[in-house]
Amino acid sequence: MTDCCIIGGGIVGLSIARELAGRGRTVRVLVREPRRDTASWAAAGIFPPAADLAAATPNERLTAWSDRLHRDWARDLLDETGIDTGLRVCGGLHVYRDDAGRARLQANAAAWRARGVACEWLDAEGVTACEPALAGGVRRAAVLGGYLLPDETQIRPPRHLEALEQSCERRGVTITRGATVRDIPVRAGRVDGVVADVAGSSETVRAGAYVLAAGAWSGALAKALGVSIETRPIRGQIVQLRMAEPQLVRVVNRGLDYLVPREDGTLLSGSTLEDVGFDASTDEATITRLVAFARDLLGDLGGAEPERSWAGLRPGTVDGLPTIGRAPACGNAFVAAGHFRAGLHQSTGTAVLIADLVEGCRPTMEVDAFAPDRAAQPPTKDSVSALLARARGED
Ligand SMILES: Cc1cc2nc3c(=O)[nH]c(=O)nc-3n(C[C@H](O)[C@H](O)[C@H](O)COP(=O)(O)OP(=O)(O)OC[C@H]3O[C@@H](n4cnc5c(N)ncnc54)[C@H](O)[C@@H]3O)c2cc1C
Repeated sequence: MTDCCIIGGGIVGLSIARELAGRGRTVRVLVREPRRDTASWAAAGIFPPAADLAAATPNERLTAWSDRLHRDWARDLLDETGIDTGLRVCGGLHVYRDDAGRARLQANAAAWRARGVACEWLDAEGVTACEPALAGGVRRAAVLGGYLLPDETQIRPPRHLEALEQSCERRGVTITRGATVRDIPVRAGRVDGVVADVAGSSETVRAGAYVLAAGAWSGALAKALGVSIETRPIRGQIVQLRMAEPQLVRVVNRGLDYLVPREDGTLLSGSTLEDVGFDASTDEATITRLVAFARDLLGDLGGAEPERSWAGLRPGTVDGLPTIGRAPACGNAFVAAGHFRAGLHQSTGTAVLIADLVEGCRPTMEVDAFAPDRAAQPPTKDSVSALLARARGED
C-alpha cells in the first residue's frame, strides 16, 4: 500500500512528496489543476531576507529555516534534474514616493536592522546609483528614496515546479493528474481512503497517511477532517514585459507593487491583492495599471509591450499563519495549507515538518503555532484583512 497520499500538486504538495520519497516512502499525489493554474506557478518568486533569531516569531523562524533549505534544494534539484531553478541573491530595493511611504519604510528598515538583516537607507541619488534605470522615476518624483536589502532573493517558480516534479518522479512518486478529490471519509478517527474523480471515474485511493495540501481549496476539504481553517482565495495578477535589454538587476518594491527582473530580459510587474473568490482571471484595467507602474518607475520602457499576463489564488489566512500539523480528530491525516504570500518561500521547511510528523518523529522545529486547532491569533500586519486594507489604501 502507498505510504502517503497527498492531495494537491502545487509547490507545497510536491515539496512534501519529494521529501517523503527521499526518506524512502512510497507517495502518490492527486492533482486537479494543470500546473499553470496553481498559485505556485503564478507566484513572483521573491524571497525577502530571513533572519534566524531566538526572538523571531514562529512564522519568521519557519521562513528563515526554509530559506536555508532552499539553497540546498536548489543545488540538489540541479544535480538531480539538470534544471536551474533560478535561485539568485539579486538584492531588493524598496522605494517610496511620499511622506507616508517614507515613514513606513523607515519603520521597516529599523525592524530589518533589529533582526540583524543588512539594510542600507538611500536617498534618491543612492537609489539611482544602485539601479540607474530608476533615474526616470526619480526625475518624475515617483521615487524619492528608499532602502536596499542586499540579501533579497528570487527564484523562478515554473522552473522550480518543473524541477520538483521531475525529482519526485525520479524518486518514484506517482503523480496522478486530472484527479479531483471529492470526499475524505473518516471512520473511527482515521481517514479511510480519499474518493477522487480520475479520468471520468470514481476511485478510492488508500494510503497509510494523508496530507491535505490543496492551497486555497484546502479550507473546504479540511471540514471532512473536522478541521476548521480558512484558506481564502486572494487573487494576484502579474504582467510580464519583454524588454529590449535588461534594465534592472534587483527586485524593486513600492508599496505592495513590485518589479522582478529575470535574467532572460523579461520583467514582471505585479501584483494585486483581490478578495474575489475562486476567479483566477485577469482584467484589462489591472494589467494596464501594472504596466503604468513599470513606466512610473522606469520611464520609457523602450517600446516593451506586455508579453503575457496571469493570475493566481493565494491561500490567505485570517492570522497570517500557515496551517501545518496533524488533524486533531484523525490519527493519519495532516494539513499543510494557508501559506498566503509566502508559500514558495516556506515550502521547504513545511515539507520537512510534515514528513517528520507523518513519520511520527519529533518535528525539526516547534509546530504548535501552526496547529490546525490553534487558538485564533490576533491579526498581524501580514494577515489578509490588514493587507487588503493596505491594498485599498485604507491605512
Ligand atoms: C501573484 C502571486 C505572487 C506570489 N508571490 C510569491 C512570492 O514572491 N513568494 C512566495 O513565497 N510566495 C508567493 N506567492 C504565494 C505562493 O504562490 C503560495 O503561497 C503557494 O504557491 C501556495 O502553494 P500551494 O501548493 O499551497 O497551493 P497551489 O499552488 O494553489 O496548489 C494547490 C494544489 O491543490 C490542487 N487541488 C485543489 N483542490 C483539489 C482537489 N479537490 N483535488 C485534487 N487536487 C486539488 C490543485 O490542483 C493544486 O495542484 C504568490 C502568489 C501569487 C498568486
